[in-house]
Amino acid sequence: MVKDNGCIFCRIAAGTVPSTKLFEDGEFLCVRDIQPQAKVHLLVIPKENISSLDEAFPVHGHPRHELMGRLLETATKVARQQGLLPEGFRLAINTGRAAGQTVFHLHVHILGGEALGATFA
Ligand code: 5GP
Repeated sequence: MVKDNGCIFCRIAAGTVPSTKLFEDGEFLCVRDIQPQAKVHLLVIPKENISSLDEAFPVHGHPRHELMGRLLETATKVARQQGLLPEGFRLAINTGRAAGQTVFHLHVHILGGEALGATFA
């Protein structure tokens, strides 16, 4: 049972907001981004409400190495399952407002399905 903490990804994880999940296990889920920036644009979201990488790897406190490893593994498996390999895909984790983070619940973007530009800006 996932707690609905009010943020949009908590609500999706808890099922309070309906969504089509391309993948789900006890720890993560994957949905299509509502405003796709590439032909394929997916989000892999931990069910636990961690606000960002800044909280996942705090200056003081417990670094979430295992969770982050599983997050990258899950993103890779989903990308593969969605047919993005061997062509390739890009992962992005925006951290903080200046980087474009708008939802303060950790998530990794999967971008692919087409040739992506070489720049990140
Ligand atoms: P950020 O800007 O924080 O890195 O990424 C947040 C992403 O969540 C954005 O790309 C935005 O389009 C997406 N998003 C925001 N609200 C929703 C929603 O309700 N459903 C889905 N599937 N994506 C959302």
